[in-house]
Amino acid sequence: MATLLISLLCWCQRTRNRFCSMTTPTETPASLIIPFDNAYARLPESCFAKLAPTPVQTPGLIRFNTELATELRISFDDATDSDIAAIFSGNRLPTQADPLAMAYCGHQFGQLNPQLGDGRAILLGDLVDVHGQRRDIQLKGSGRTPFSRGGDGRSPLGPALREYILCEAMHALGVPTTRALAVVSSGEPVLRERAEPGAVFTRVAASHIRVGTFQYFALRQDSEALQALADHVLERHYPTIDRTADDRYLQLFSAICQRQAQLIAQWLQLGFIHGVMNTDNMTVSGETIDYGPCAFMDAFSAGKVFSSIDQGGRYAYQNQSAIGQWNLARLAEAMLTLFPGDEDESVAAATTVLKDFADVHGQAWQQAMGQKLGFGRVEAGDLQRISALLELLEQGGLDYTLFFRRLCKVTQPEQDRSDLLALLTLPDCRNSAAMERNLHEWLDEWQQQLRQREPDPTVVQSRMLAANPAIIPRNHRVAEAIAAAEAGDYSVFENLLAALAQPYAELPQFAAYQEPPQPEQRVHRTFCGT
Ligand code: AMP
Ligand code: MG
Repeated sequence: MATLLISLLCWCQRTRNRFCSMTTPTETPASLIIPFDNAYARLPESCFAKLAPTPVQTPGLIRFNTELATELRISFDDATDSDIAAIFSGNRLPTQADPLAMAYCGHQFGQLNPQLGDGRAILLGDLVDVHGQRRDIQLKGSGRTPFSRGGDGRSPLGPALREYILCEAMHALGVPTTRALAVVSSGEPVLRERAEPGAVFTRVAASHIRVGTFQYFALRQDSEALQALADHVLERHYPTIDRTADDRYLQLFSAICQRQAQLIAQWLQLGFIHGVMNTDNMTVSGETIDYGPCAFMDAFSAGKVFSSIDQGGRYAYQNQSAIGQWNLARLAEAMLTLFPGDEDESVAAATTVLKDFADVHGQAWQQAMGQKLGFGRVEAGDLQRISALLELLEQGGLDYTLFFRRLCKVTQPEQDRSDLLALLTLPDCRNSAAMERNLHEWLDEWQQQLRQREPDPTVVQSRMLAANPAIIPRNHRVAEAIAAAEAGDYSVFENLLAALAQPYAELPQFAAYQEPPQPEQRVHRTFCGT
């Protein structure tokens, strides 16, 4: 690991802070106040390039998340839609903002890219929310920055809406994630494979600090920035670690690994595929970030890949645990000089933490899958029980989400299994006769386990209903909402958001959102669309 670190350092290239020339946005109206504090902007200068967003032609408010705004202590009562659109397009700069583009690098599909950074995003600033948590407010699609390389710094409407839907759905599902505060149409076309309507998306994050942010300073041997960044992360995300302890940065590394171990277990139990787990798309806060080509599976398939750019299947569903660990090994390399002891001792300590990641992740996954099956805690034989079930789902091409939701209603031998077995008639299903036999066998054994472990069936059922969502953001629904919005109709997007806001409730008005796609509705490929 240390050898690799040294060879990586040979890539060293010092960045030059270049500043874009652009029209300056006007100031915020008194009616919308964002109480920025801007701790990130107080880090060493090499951490960012300060610059304002580039205004767009005709900002139009598509959606503003008032609930989240309230949580962020944003006062917007007297603000009109056009005030809100002006601010969250980057056309009007909030008074206390200190806008900047963050520097970072990262391994993309296993290859180190020594300079990435916010090429189409600008951090307006950070603030302390009603819970005392520091949160970032970032515009995406707000124009070119010194990190834009060949890009235009803009975002099409489709990916902005996609991120809005997916991150808010993840939040409602109970998974740590960045959030959506606003989406504003820009009134400008964005040229991709074709001209598309442009938009600016406002992302809220516990922070935008990534594994790649640490890598950036390690590569440049900028030890001052590296340590300042680590101190900032300790204070911001891991305040319970003793900041006077000699091994505080090793503890920090270990705590980051634990959060990622839990996070990826959550993804897996929901059938979520991130799609682009590059080290620049992995936060140190433990939130899911970067909803590009991500997708939820319909029919269960361990090797499932949706992303059009993931041709080797590096970020397939079943690879996500191992990739998480690989990314964290890159973080260890970047943080190595901060760990106590000599290089060999640091490498040994980091290796132990990385091995623990596998254990913690495995336990978190078994615990989460156990909850889905109604078990309060994991017991001997559960791993085999879960694996056997997943194998059955894969063999039969069964819908992952619907299967677990319908399983909640057949915990007792006397309950009718026909709703669950009806899944075998869906278009994706294979080998239905053999599947039916095998499923009955698995169900009988599972029900027996439940009876032995939990005498009260209502406890089992409420545990299962809280662990198995009825509604996930299915790809065909997301695609449908985006297509309608591109044609000027936002009602499909709004209805989908309403359905996804209560994923564990089975409300009759949202019943259709539970259904998997018909063959002609299937989405086979997802795109970054950046
Ligand atoms: P992502 O695919 O979102 O993880 O982005 C990878 C890198 O490409 C980041 O440095 C982005 O800022 C940059 N990037 C993506 N799209 C654009 C764009 N339209 N203009 C400039 N930079 C971009
Ligand atoms: Mg990214």
